[in-house]
Order: sequence, then structure tokens, then C-alpha cells
Amino acid sequence: MPELPEVETVKAGIAPVMEGLVIARAEVNRPDLRWPFPERMAERLTGQRVLGLRRRSKYILVDLASAETLLIHLGMSGRMLISGHTVGEFHHPHPVPAKHDHVVFHMENGARITFNDARRFGAMDLMETARQEDHWLIRDLGPEPLGNAFNETYLVERLKGRNTPIKSALLDQRIVSGLGNIYVCEVLFRAGIHPARKAGRISAARVASLVPLIRDVLSEAIAAGGSSLRDYRQSDGELGYFQHVFQVYDRAGKPCVTHGCDKTITRIVQSGRSSFFCPQCQR
Ligand SMILES: [Zn+2]
Repeated sequence: MPELPEVETVKAGIAPVMEGLVIARAEVNRPDLRWPFPERMAERLTGQRVLGLRRRSKYILVDLASAETLLIHLGMSGRMLISGHTVGEFHHPHPVPAKHDHVVFHMENGARITFNDARRFGAMDLMETARQEDHWLIRDLGPEPLGNAFNETYLVERLKGRNTPIKSALLDQRIVSGLGNIYVCEVLFRAGIHPARKAGRISAARVASLVPLIRDVLSEAIAAGGSSLRDYRQSDGELGYFQHVFQVYDRAGKPCVTHGCDKTITRIVQSGRSSFFCPQCQR
């Protein structure tokens, strides 16, 4: 499932093929994904110039000249394929239309961006750009983890007195938006905090230490995604998934990477999701 860094990478990948260009034709091949598409979506996109792309949480926001914004959510399995345009050093010819090609943006310069989503947990919606903060998927989101509103004072305040495990608190999108299971596991390992520790029982200094670690973990993953874009090796022009090395995530039973630690990474299930941690290094 794509997390914030993967979404950022997809955004960076499609930006050169969309920004400043007119969508000559939007091809919408079904009425819905996870939810129904907005009314007349193809008409509202066709002929519109793309003013710019942004990211909010795990959503890509495409601002249009019509003063509407297209929200794109990749869901569990959503992929963007660029064709007819050079990505990095590689030029990808247009693919044969495939099953699950649900939305295709035919750009005025001949490039195509194809949204393919086999499991259909993805979503697209259109909203007035001026009222985007009121959109039901956006209005309750907490601050961006890489933005200024997310800082030590804020996090200490929000976690004060909380009885929930720190893992759940960091996954709560109302506290900080865009953090997912993988990167929360990695952050807690770097912080040396056990994922089941009650958020309100952790000292303010240790909570504060999470803020720069969250920024580091995400920034490193975004950088890895950026180099995967520059160094494009996939033959089909697909964006969004890149090789990334994790210290604890999905490493149950493997040795802890901390120098001098002889323990193995443990997996527990919290709120139905796997947590990976070192029982010695994380307390
Ligand atoms: Zn360890």
C-alpha cells in the first residue's frame, strides 16, 4: 500500500507530464472506484489546463484552470503509468489498453497518464479548489508531518494524557496526516520506543524526539523515491513503488541491526495491523 513517500514520488513523476498542460481528453472507463466518480468527471476534466500538482496526506491534488481540483487516491493497488513521454532517460511507448485501466489522461502533447487499479480501493473526486479544506477526506486531517505546523510543542500537547499505544496515536490521521504502518514502525525503532507504550506515559523529551525522526524517515524515503525516478529501470513506465530498505518493517525473526544487540525483530498485532520492533532496543 503506497504511503506518503510513494505518493510524493508518483506526484513528482506525473508532474512533468501534467503541469502547465491541457488534458486533451479524459477517458473514464467505469462509474466508480472505491466510491462513485463525481458527476460528468470526464467532461469536467477534458480541455482543462493543469495549473499545478500538490500532495495533502496521501492524496494527490491536481489544480485545474476551471478552479476545480482533482483529488487522486492510489488506494491499495493504484498505479500510474506514463507513456508517450520520456521519464528519466527512458521513453515508454503507449501500452495496449489493459484491464483495470480505469482513467486515462490524454495530454495535449501526446503523453498519457493511465490510472490502473486492480483492487479498486483508489478514488478520484473533484472539488472547488477554494473549498478543498472542506472536502470530507481532508477536513479532519492533522498537520503534514513535513510541514511547520507539526512540531515538538504540537506533538507533546496532542499526546498528553493519551491512553492509546504510541503506535496507534501516530497512525491517527487527526494527529498527524499521512503517516502509515511502515514508517511508524521505522520511526519507533529509531526512537527506541516500544510500539505498545501508552502515548501519555512517554516523557515529553522522548515524544519531542519523534518529530525530527519522523521527518528524517519520510525525507529519506522520498529521496529514495526521487532517485528511483531519475534512475528509471522499469520497462513499463509505472510509477509509485520503489526498493527501500527497512530496519524493522517486515523483518520478523531477522537480527536487529543495532550494533551490539543480539535480539531478533519481533512482530505483534496491534489494532489488526502488524508492528515490528526490537524487544531490547525499544522500551
Ligand atoms: Zn535491538
